[in-house]
Amino acid sequence: MMDLIIGRESGTDNPRLAIEYNGKTYFWGNPGSVPKSVSRKHCHVTIADDSSIVVEDVTTNNFMYINGIDCKKKGGVTMMDTIELGPDRFHLDLESVVKALSAQQTFSIAHLEKIYDAYQQKKMDTQVSQGRLNALSTLPGILSMTSIGLALIIPNARIVMIVIAAVFALAFALIRFRNADKLPKQAKKLEESFREKYVCPNPTCGHFLGGVPYKELLKNRTCPYCKSKFTE
Ligand SMILES: [Zn+2]
Repeated sequence: MMDLIIGRESGTDNPRLAIEYNGKTYFWGNPGSVPKSVSRKHCHVTIADDSSIVVEDVTTNNFMYINGIDCKKKGGVTMMDTIELGPDRFHLDLESVVKALSAQQTFSIAHLEKIYDAYQQKKMDTQVSQGRLNALSTLPGILSMTSIGLALIIPNARIVMIVIAAVFALAFALIRFRNADKLPKQAKKLEESFREKYVCPNPTCGHFLGGVPYKELLKNRTCPYCKSKFTE
Protein backbone atom coordinates (compact mmCIF):
# COMPACT_ATOMS: atom_id res chain seq x y z
CA MET A 1 0.00 0.00 0.00
CA MET A 2 1.27 3.45 -0.96
CA ASP A 3 -0.28 6.64 0.31
CA LEU A 4 0.64 9.96 -1.34
CA ILE A 5 -0.46 13.55 -1.03
CA ILE A 6 0.38 15.45 -4.18
CA GLY A 7 0.45 19.22 -4.57
CA ARG A 8 2.51 22.31 -5.28
CA GLU A 9 5.81 23.12 -3.58
CA SER A 10 5.35 25.98 -1.10
CA GLY A 11 7.57 28.99 -0.37
CA THR A 12 8.83 29.55 -3.90
CA ASP A 13 7.83 31.46 -7.03
CA ASN A 14 8.97 28.55 -9.17
CA PRO A 15 7.23 25.59 -7.63
CA ARG A 16 7.82 21.95 -8.40
CA LEU A 17 5.49 19.11 -7.62
CA ALA A 18 5.57 18.19 -3.92
CA ILE A 19 4.78 14.64 -2.88
CA GLU A 20 4.21 13.69 0.74
CA TYR A 21 5.00 10.08 1.33
CA ASN A 22 5.86 8.13 4.49
CA GLY A 23 6.28 11.32 6.51
CA LYS A 24 8.73 12.86 4.00
CA THR A 25 8.25 15.38 1.23
CA TYR A 26 9.78 14.70 -2.17
CA PHE A 27 10.00 17.21 -5.02
CA TRP A 28 9.50 16.34 -8.64
CA GLY A 29 10.12 18.12 -11.94
CA ASN A 30 11.82 21.38 -12.90
CA PRO A 31 11.37 24.59 -10.87
CA GLY A 32 8.33 26.45 -12.15
CA SER A 33 6.87 23.37 -13.83
CA VAL A 34 3.77 23.41 -11.63
CA PRO A 35 1.20 26.24 -12.08
CA LYS A 36 -0.12 28.14 -9.08
CA SER A 37 -3.58 26.78 -9.82
CA VAL A 38 -2.43 23.48 -8.32
CA SER A 39 -3.12 23.51 -4.56
CA ARG A 40 -0.38 22.81 -2.02
CA LYS A 41 -2.27 19.66 -1.08
CA HIS A 42 -4.22 18.91 -4.20
CA CYS A 43 -4.97 15.23 -4.33
CA HIS A 44 -4.58 12.11 -2.30
CA VAL A 45 -3.41 9.00 -4.19
CA THR A 46 -3.78 5.53 -2.71
CA ILE A 47 -2.20 2.53 -4.39
CA ALA A 48 -3.39 -0.74 -2.88
CA ASP A 49 -1.38 -3.97 -2.69
CA ASP A 50 -3.35 -5.30 -5.66
CA SER A 51 -2.08 -2.24 -7.62
CA SER A 52 -5.52 -0.60 -7.83
CA ILE A 53 -5.27 3.18 -7.62
CA VAL A 54 -7.70 5.74 -6.24
CA VAL A 55 -7.22 9.49 -6.69
CA GLU A 56 -9.15 11.75 -4.38
CA ASP A 57 -9.47 15.52 -4.26
CA VAL A 58 -8.13 16.69 -0.87
CA THR A 59 -10.68 19.50 -0.68
CA THR A 60 -13.85 19.44 -2.72
CA ASN A 61 -13.04 22.50 -4.83
CA ASN A 62 -9.72 21.48 -6.36
CA PHE A 63 -10.18 20.77 -10.01
CA MET A 64 -9.24 17.31 -11.12
CA TYR A 65 -9.65 15.70 -14.54
CA ILE A 66 -9.37 12.04 -15.39
CA ASN A 67 -8.99 11.39 -19.12
CA GLY A 68 -10.23 14.93 -19.75
CA ILE A 69 -13.41 14.53 -17.71
CA ASP A 70 -13.99 16.65 -14.63
CA CYS A 71 -13.80 14.27 -11.70
CA LYS A 72 -15.79 15.75 -8.84
CA LYS A 73 -14.25 14.11 -5.81
CA LYS A 74 -12.78 10.65 -6.20
CA GLY A 75 -11.99 8.19 -8.94
CA GLY A 76 -10.33 4.85 -9.63
CA VAL A 77 -7.54 5.12 -12.20
CA THR A 78 -4.80 3.05 -13.79
CA MET A 79 -1.28 4.15 -14.72
CA MET A 80 -2.56 4.47 -18.29
CA ASP A 81 -5.12 7.16 -17.44
CA THR A 82 -4.42 10.86 -17.90
CA ILE A 83 -4.71 12.82 -14.66
CA GLU A 84 -4.79 16.61 -14.72
CA LEU A 85 -4.82 18.93 -11.71
CA GLY A 86 -6.22 22.45 -11.39
CA PRO A 87 -8.00 24.69 -13.92
CA ASP A 88 -4.71 25.04 -15.86
CA ARG A 89 -4.74 21.28 -16.23
CA PHE A 90 -1.30 20.34 -14.94
CA HIS A 91 -0.57 16.85 -16.24
CA LEU A 92 0.36 14.52 -13.38
CA ASP A 93 2.71 11.77 -14.61
CA LEU A 94 1.74 9.37 -11.84
CA GLU A 95 3.72 6.45 -13.25
CA SER A 96 7.03 8.37 -13.24
CA VAL A 97 6.31 9.77 -9.77
CA VAL A 98 5.61 6.30 -8.38
CA LYS A 99 8.72 4.88 -10.05
CA ALA A 100 10.89 7.63 -8.59
CA LEU A 101 9.41 7.03 -5.13
CA SER A 102 9.92 3.27 -5.44
CA ALA A 103 13.59 3.91 -6.09
CA GLN A 104 13.73 5.41 -2.58
CA GLN A 105 12.30 2.28 -0.99
CA THR A 106 13.98 -0.86 0.27
CA PHE A 107 12.32 -4.26 0.31
CA SER A 108 13.43 -7.53 1.82
CA ILE A 109 13.70 -10.34 -0.74
CA ALA A 110 14.77 -13.09 1.72
CA HIS A 111 11.55 -15.05 1.01
CA LEU A 112 12.52 -15.33 -2.68
CA GLU A 113 15.46 -17.62 -1.91
CA LYS A 114 13.21 -20.56 -0.98
CA ILE A 115 10.97 -19.94 -3.99
CA TYR A 116 13.94 -19.92 -6.36
CA ASP A 117 15.56 -23.04 -4.84
CA ALA A 118 12.29 -25.00 -4.83
CA TYR A 119 11.71 -24.09 -8.48
CA GLN A 120 15.19 -25.23 -9.51
CA GLN A 121 14.80 -28.48 -7.55
CA LYS A 122 11.41 -29.29 -9.08
CA LYS A 123 12.65 -28.43 -12.54
CA MET A 124 15.51 -30.88 -12.09
CA ASP A 125 13.10 -33.58 -10.78
CA THR A 126 10.97 -33.17 -13.92
CA GLN A 127 14.05 -33.59 -16.10
CA VAL A 128 15.06 -36.73 -14.17
CA SER A 129 11.54 -38.19 -14.62
CA GLN A 130 11.70 -37.46 -18.34
CA GLY A 131 15.11 -39.14 -18.55
CA ARG A 132 13.85 -42.23 -16.68
CA LEU A 133 10.86 -42.47 -18.97
CA ASN A 134 13.12 -42.31 -22.01
CA ALA A 135 15.31 -45.07 -20.56
CA LEU A 136 12.23 -47.24 -19.88
CA SER A 137 11.03 -46.79 -23.43
CA THR A 138 14.00 -48.73 -24.80
CA LEU A 139 13.14 -51.78 -22.63
CA PRO A 140 10.34 -53.32 -24.77
CA GLY A 141 12.69 -53.41 -27.77
CA ILE A 142 15.41 -55.13 -25.78
CA LEU A 143 12.91 -57.62 -24.34
CA SER A 144 11.40 -58.47 -27.72
CA MET A 145 14.84 -59.00 -29.21
CA THR A 146 15.79 -61.26 -26.28
CA SER A 147 12.54 -63.23 -26.59
CA ILE A 148 13.02 -63.76 -30.31
CA GLY A 149 16.61 -64.84 -29.69
CA LEU A 150 15.53 -67.26 -26.99
CA ALA A 151 12.70 -68.58 -29.16
CA LEU A 152 15.25 -69.55 -31.82
CA ILE A 153 17.24 -71.59 -29.27
CA ILE A 154 14.23 -73.16 -27.54
CA PRO A 155 11.62 -73.62 -30.28
CA ASN A 156 8.82 -74.67 -27.90
CA ALA A 157 9.08 -71.44 -26.02
CA ARG A 158 8.59 -69.36 -29.15
CA ILE A 159 4.91 -68.51 -28.70
CA VAL A 160 5.28 -67.83 -24.96
CA MET A 161 8.21 -65.52 -25.62
CA ILE A 162 6.47 -63.64 -28.40
CA VAL A 163 3.43 -63.14 -26.15
CA ILE A 164 5.65 -61.91 -23.29
CA ALA A 165 7.42 -59.46 -25.61
CA ALA A 166 4.08 -58.21 -26.92
CA VAL A 167 2.74 -57.75 -23.38
CA PHE A 168 5.85 -55.78 -22.38
CA ALA A 169 5.66 -53.63 -25.49
CA LEU A 170 1.98 -52.91 -24.83
CA ALA A 171 2.59 -52.16 -21.13
CA PHE A 172 5.36 -49.67 -21.88
CA ALA A 173 3.37 -48.09 -24.67
CA LEU A 174 0.57 -47.56 -22.12
CA ILE A 175 2.96 -46.04 -19.56
CA ARG A 176 4.32 -43.67 -22.19
CA PHE A 177 0.83 -42.78 -23.35
CA ARG A 178 -0.31 -41.97 -19.80
CA ASN A 179 2.78 -39.86 -19.11
CA ALA A 180 2.75 -38.12 -22.48
CA ASP A 181 0.81 -35.10 -21.25
CA LYS A 182 1.51 -35.51 -17.51
CA LEU A 183 5.10 -34.26 -17.60
CA PRO A 184 4.57 -31.27 -19.90
CA LYS A 185 1.53 -30.32 -17.76
CA GLN A 186 3.62 -30.51 -14.58
CA ALA A 187 6.32 -28.40 -16.20
CA LYS A 188 3.76 -25.79 -17.28
CA LYS A 189 2.20 -25.64 -13.81
CA LEU A 190 5.63 -25.27 -12.22
CA GLU A 191 6.50 -22.43 -14.58
CA GLU A 192 3.20 -20.66 -13.89
CA SER A 193 3.52 -20.83 -10.12
CA PHE A 194 7.12 -19.60 -10.32
CA ARG A 195 6.07 -16.62 -12.45
CA GLU A 196 3.42 -15.78 -9.89
CA LYS A 197 5.67 -15.98 -6.83
CA TYR A 198 9.12 -14.87 -7.97
CA VAL A 199 8.19 -11.20 -8.21
CA CYS A 200 9.41 -7.83 -6.98
CA PRO A 201 8.04 -7.32 -3.42
CA ASN A 202 7.23 -3.67 -4.12
CA PRO A 203 3.39 -3.71 -4.32
CA THR A 204 3.35 -1.00 -6.97
CA CYS A 205 5.71 -3.09 -9.10
CA GLY A 206 5.22 -6.84 -8.55
CA HIS A 207 7.09 -7.55 -11.79
CA PHE A 208 8.24 -11.14 -12.47
CA LEU A 209 12.00 -11.18 -11.86
CA GLY A 210 12.68 -13.59 -14.70
CA GLY A 211 15.17 -16.38 -14.40
CA VAL A 212 17.60 -14.16 -12.44
CA PRO A 213 18.96 -16.38 -9.63
CA TYR A 214 18.34 -15.23 -6.06
CA LYS A 215 22.07 -14.72 -5.41
CA GLU A 216 22.25 -12.50 -8.48
CA LEU A 217 19.32 -10.40 -7.20
CA LEU A 218 21.11 -9.91 -3.88
CA LYS A 219 24.26 -8.87 -5.71
CA ASN A 220 22.47 -6.33 -7.95
CA ARG A 221 20.38 -5.05 -5.01
CA THR A 222 17.93 -3.23 -7.30
CA CYS A 223 14.71 -4.15 -9.05
CA PRO A 224 15.39 -3.77 -12.80
CA TYR A 225 11.80 -2.55 -13.30
CA CYS A 226 10.93 -0.14 -10.45
CA LYS A 227 14.49 0.53 -9.22
CA SER A 228 13.52 -0.12 -5.59
CA LYS A 229 16.35 -1.45 -3.45
CA PHE A 230 16.58 -5.08 -2.39
CA THR A 231 17.96 -6.33 0.87
CA GLU A 232 18.21 -9.78 2.46
ZN1 LIG B 1 10.17 -3.78 -8.82
